[in-house]
Amino acid sequence: MTPDTGLPPALDALKSTVRQIVRDECIPLEPEYLAHPPQEGEPENGAPRGVLETVPGVLGTLSENQWGRLNNVSKQTGIYTSFVPEEYGGGGMGALGHLVLEEEVHRSIVHLPTSPVPMFMIGACTPEQEQKYLYPAIDGDLYYSFGQTEPQAGSDPGGMMQTRAVRDGDDWILNGTKMFISGAASADFLLVQAVTDPDKRQRGGITMFIIDNPTPGVTFEPIRVWVVPTKAQQHYIHLDNVRVPQTQVLGEVGEGFNLGQQWLVHHDRLLRGAMALGILTRALQMAIDWSQERVTYGRPIADRQAIQWMLTDVYMDIVALRSVARETAARADAGEDVRVEASMVKYAAGEWGWRSIDKIMQIFGGVGETLDMPIPHWYHMLRHARIGGGTSEIHKFVMARALLGGRVNFQG
Ligand SMILES: Cc1cc2nc3c(=O)[nH]c(=O)nc-3n(C[C@H](O)[C@H](O)[C@H](O)COP(=O)(O)OP(=O)(O)OC[C@H]3O[C@@H](n4cnc5c(N)ncnc54)[C@H](O)[C@@H]3O)c2cc1C
Repeated sequence: MTPDTGLPPALDALKSTVRQIVRDECIPLEPEYLAHPPQEGEPENGAPRGVLETVPGVLGTLSENQWGRLNNVSKQTGIYTSFVPEEYGGGGMGALGHLVLEEEVHRSIVHLPTSPVPMFMIGACTPEQEQKYLYPAIDGDLYYSFGQTEPQAGSDPGGMMQTRAVRDGDDWILNGTKMFISGAASADFLLVQAVTDPDKRQRGGITMFIIDNPTPGVTFEPIRVWVVPTKAQQHYIHLDNVRVPQTQVLGEVGEGFNLGQQWLVHHDRLLRGAMALGILTRALQMAIDWSQERVTYGRPIADRQAIQWMLTDVYMDIVALRSVARETAARADAGEDVRVEASMVKYAAGEWGWRSIDKIMQIFGGVGETLDMPIPHWYHMLRHARIGGGTSEIHKFVMARALLGGRVNFQG
């Protein structure tokens, strides 16, 4: 372990390389990025598309050359696929590596691009699906979108999902509506859950389908949310008699709910911890610097206990969240079932992340609300973290079930 960070040497090296690139390549682009919020109908310009892991949308724009340069830097250094298993051409740094990487990436609001591959596809694809979808997703040539939520099915997707897939010879016919699906319209393929056995539902009756975009019968309807008011990045997906061959089933028929849970645990829960950590770490440094420079009544505001207590509150949230997130990732790499711990990471990322960024904004006063600073955008992202990927209440519900069922060790 490396003394400063407590990380294995390879991850420590990854961390400092990414930190330096983010400092030198991404942070300097922030003013330009934030000055140009994305607009409806604008070309994608080489920007990362699809789910964007934990971010509910692209917040600004860069030129195609600038995105190209960031992509090249990430790919040439091996950062891009550092968390992908070695047998799939990556660096094999695992969930802990992915967490460490994404924490560094989120220190800037201009994200250094990393492979958009949904990790649960590794091991779930047929050889043909690997060639057609998995390898191009690892390389960033194809972007995906994940469709679980529906108008009637958010917190209770297994119980309330209405989208149906019915067998028709060698095909399936899908009907239904998905809601709030991030990056759906611009994704190259959609990973959509549908009920295939209404009696079993989440216990063997929900299947995951890979649907190419475009496919006849698939239409999108934009939903604007406050995080990115200038351009809708969430969509309804309307499925109207969509014919999908059996070869487009991902994993086993009936196992699609479990696959979706794997996506949620890794991308939506663990990596949301990384997002909150990256944001808060940079924001705390900015607040320390600012509070030592900003003078009122003849003294820097850093001299006031009111400000010092807000700084220490954020510091404690960072240290505690990093500890639980890293332990959870390391246990996932060791093959443990970390669904409950991932709920804890997600809960802490949203609740602690939001209360901490609120304090950071307070320390900055009016400047903290200006849109050419990352702070209000981070505020939106961390507020969204209390809802997206399962609400805080649902994650408490998951933890409570495990606690009351005697399935967690809190005795130490
Ligand atoms: C910007 C954005 C991006 C998103 N991206 C995606 C995506 O890419 N793919 C996808 O599939 N989904 C996506 N979602 C959907 C998101 O995961 C859901 O919004 C979220 O899970 C909450 O579901 P809901 O909105 O239906 O809330 P509801 O389930 O209607 O909940 C409403 C309120 O009731 C509370 N509640 C519900 N049940 C209980 C209970 N049993 N006990 C206590 N309280 C309860 C909730 O915590 C919440 O406060 C996205 C949403 C947003 C806003």
